Amino acid sequence: MAPTIDSSKFAIHDLPTPEPDSPLRPRQPYRFSTLCATVENPSQKDQYGSSSVPIYQTATFKGISGEYDYSRSGNPTRSHLEHHIAKISSAQHAFTVSSGMAALDVILRVLKPGDEVIAGDDLYGGTNRLLTYLKTHGGVTIHHVNTTDPKSLHQYIKPGKTAMVLLETPTNPLLKIVDIATISADVKERAPDAIIVVDNTMMSPYLQRPLEHGADVVYDSATKYLSGHHDLMAGVITCNRDDLAKQMAFVINSVGNALTPFDSFLLLRGIKTLAIRMDRQQSSAMRVATLLEKLGFKVHYPGLPNHPGRDVHMRIADGPGAVLSFVTGDKVMSERIVGATRLWGISVSFGAVNSLISMPCVMSHASIDPAVRAARGLPEDLIRLCVGIEDPIDLLDDLERALLEAGAITVAAGSNEERFVRAIPQEGHAISRAVEKLAFNDNASLGISQKRAQEDREWFVSAPGKVILFGEHAVVHGATAVAASVDLRCYGLTTPRHDGKLSVKFTDIDNFYHEWDLSELPWDAVTPVALGSAHPDALDEKLVAAISATAMSSVTQPKAKVAATAFLYMYMIMAHGGERPSFNFTSRSTLPIGAGLGSSASFSACAATALLLLHQRISIPPLPLPSRAAAAGDPGHVHVSHEGRRAITTGIAEEANRWAFVAEKILHGNPSGVDNSVAVFGGALAYTRPGFNKPSGMDPINGFKSLRFLLTDSKVPRDTKKLVAGVGELKNQQPELVERLLKEIQAISDEAKRCLADPELSREQLLAGLSALIEENHAHLVTLGVSHASLEAIKAKTKTAPFNLSTKLTGAGGGGCAVTLVPDDFKDETMQELKSALANDGFDTYLTSVGGSGLGILSPYGQRPLDAPPTPPADESSTVDQADGAAPEPLRASLDGKAIVELSGWADSLGRWLFV
Ligand code: PLP
Repeated sequence: MAPTIDSSKFAIHDLPTPEPDSPLRPRQPYRFSTLCATVENPSQKDQYGSSSVPIYQTATFKGISGEYDYSRSGNPTRSHLEHHIAKISSAQHAFTVSSGMAALDVILRVLKPGDEVIAGDDLYGGTNRLLTYLKTHGGVTIHHVNTTDPKSLHQYIKPGKTAMVLLETPTNPLLKIVDIATISADVKERAPDAIIVVDNTMMSPYLQRPLEHGADVVYDSATKYLSGHHDLMAGVITCNRDDLAKQMAFVINSVGNALTPFDSFLLLRGIKTLAIRMDRQQSSAMRVATLLEKLGFKVHYPGLPNHPGRDVHMRIADGPGAVLSFVTGDKVMSERIVGATRLWGISVSFGAVNSLISMPCVMSHASIDPAVRAARGLPEDLIRLCVGIEDPIDLLDDLERALLEAGAITVAAGSNEERFVRAIPQEGHAISRAVEKLAFNDNASLGISQKRAQEDREWFVSAPGKVILFGEHAVVHGATAVAASVDLRCYGLTTPRHDGKLSVKFTDIDNFYHEWDLSELPWDAVTPVALGSAHPDALDEKLVAAISATAMSSVTQPKAKVAATAFLYMYMIMAHGGERPSFNFTSRSTLPIGAGLGSSASFSACAATALLLLHQRISIPPLPLPSRAAAAGDPGHVHVSHEGRRAITTGIAEEANRWAFVAEKILHGNPSGVDNSVAVFGGALAYTRPGFNKPSGMDPINGFKSLRFLLTDSKVPRDTKKLVAGVGELKNQQPELVERLLKEIQAISDEAKRCLADPELSREQLLAGLSALIEENHAHLVTLGVSHASLEAIKAKTKTAPFNLSTKLTGAGGGGCAVTLVPDDFKDETMQELKSALANDGFDTYLTSVGGSGLGILSPYGQRPLDAPPTPPADESSTVDQADGAAPEPLRASLDGKAIVELSGWADSLGRWLFV
């Protein structure tokens, strides 16, 4: 790597010059390393011809007409240094000050109160700290933007307001790349007065000269590569604009932070070897990055072929540099690795001849609020490596040994060539282990490349609604309620977008659609829940408020608003490791919305599950190898109905249920947790509220046999709070009556629980028993005053001949839905007759089974990622036929366009559903 310098940019510095032009051979400018090693300033010849620039260790100079009078204003050693730096940086002007931060401080002093600054969102921690100070004390507005996407700056570039754009590339420690050239051109076009400032510390002028790409001012922490030995602190500023140079020279002289003579001498000495050090450090860094990647770690280094910003970087810079970072998946593991190295010194900073290792979140970036760190995608387990000039073999050996000692890698079995492989962590949370397994499964059919592809596919999930069969209202006062899933479902589908946006479509809530730029979401308000941790009991009200004030400010439809808020809340809190997937979430519902059948809980379960999958917090079980599956009786991903084995493990279901409950809290304030539990686990459960001096909690009713119910929506809206309060009032007025009713309802629930789970009971006995319990429970609800004329009309109609069916209200009453138990032998024609009769009275009916499957995920096996070439189905019995070679149609359009009555049949036809 030996860049040449454009000599026209610094004609005054290009001495000594090579031989002059001749007709045979045009004059060539000297190459970078030659310039570095050759410290010459024709206007400052040393009186004794010293080979090395002397240290003028003096504060003052005698006389009144000399070039120098006082070292704060100027010093010959510093002048030599600044001349040299200007020469190697394609710059007209160079200044050296006491540190990198001092350099930034000098630059920021061109700002005035009221000015706006656009800065990166992944900046060096100290830069962040100084900008925050300026924001709170200097009246300057700072917009932190994802500068890796030049378009994300556009909306903040305001002519007359934007005074500065502050960029850092590659960023430290995530090595993200910023396209300085494109951003400079954009800014010059839209806000010509704005100054583009670049922190070039990670690259040094050897590898990147931003002035050549449109920057106005460039600064380096010369504490790093420029000096190269960690024996001084210094900052350098370069620019080509005379006006800015004048302003900055004034500030340096006024505040007195110019570099001291001795440090100027050391820095000048360091720069002489810049190119040769960098060449060695960079080539060793490439070897380290390659090794780590080969071992299976996620590595950030622009030298690696798969680095997302590599092309942009290589257009602007002359090499990838010598800093890289990687994640281990486990903070404690990372700490062990850092502690186990010997040659790699544990230290902040970088750029010295010695190799360093650090964990940015606990060291260099600890000054950034942990919430902000997480929101900006800085993983807590990130390890940064700054490669020095030691022999690369020693560096690799030491690192490998530390990884081994920490348990991050293990000796590969039976292999001579590849000595080590990444170890799958033995400790840690089951969910993150499952993700690991998906990524590093050696024998299942998913490898790392497929894991990425998996993110590119559509995830289709569904969850059932619920009916309360017995015990509503009484449950508020400590009695047990029996709830069961209904086979009316909410569906959720994620479709990748890749345009930095997130969108939701709630087709059945006023056809609601809304999209957000991911960068505009209120990330600063997020306290993420780490991978493997649970959401705290209480909602993060600060985040809910921030979402409401920003992302939801223009949304007026109340139902859609609260659903979208719950969705965004979970999306933002779940985001980790810098991943913010861009996709659309479409939701449909065959459940009537707001009719007391748990539509919100099934939406919550779908949204939570889709997000958990996309954020890779859960993964579905890998496809079993045919031989292994047969031998172990492994159910793998084969869908078996709720009556048989379960394809989605309890661990995953519990995680989905925890998050669905979080969403329910946003939707309802203080939910019992029954609805989301039924939506996730399906079947039936008995629930008793805590706080009544008796056993409380949720008990699944095992052995529950699916039953047919007719659900009739009275379409009369209810006020649940008022109805609940009414029962409370009655209890105050007539405590004896209500206590007796509560006891009787408790007995009904107990009896229902017992008979639903009783394997000895015949079907006839079960249905007869339940009919009686339904009648009895409804009568009590009438006494409690929560029925309604419409519900009584439905009940009367179903009871008349030839129907003779038992009906009760379900849920809060006062309108909403009624449930009618339908015997197995009930004739189809009679059912049709009943449905028509109810429809004539203005009611909507749904014939459904109760107690079926819970949460479902359409199996991704056998499906192809949307943009992948066709591959033969991994599973021979796959029902998804994609052998035609064309990319599959996204499901989104079909889901959106289906009539409600067609939805479930269509969803079932898509392939295998995995259920809880
Ligand atoms: N910019 C970057 C990218 C840095 O890493 C650092 C220090 O680590 C600085 C600026 C600040 O430099 P200094 O410590 O010399 O003030």
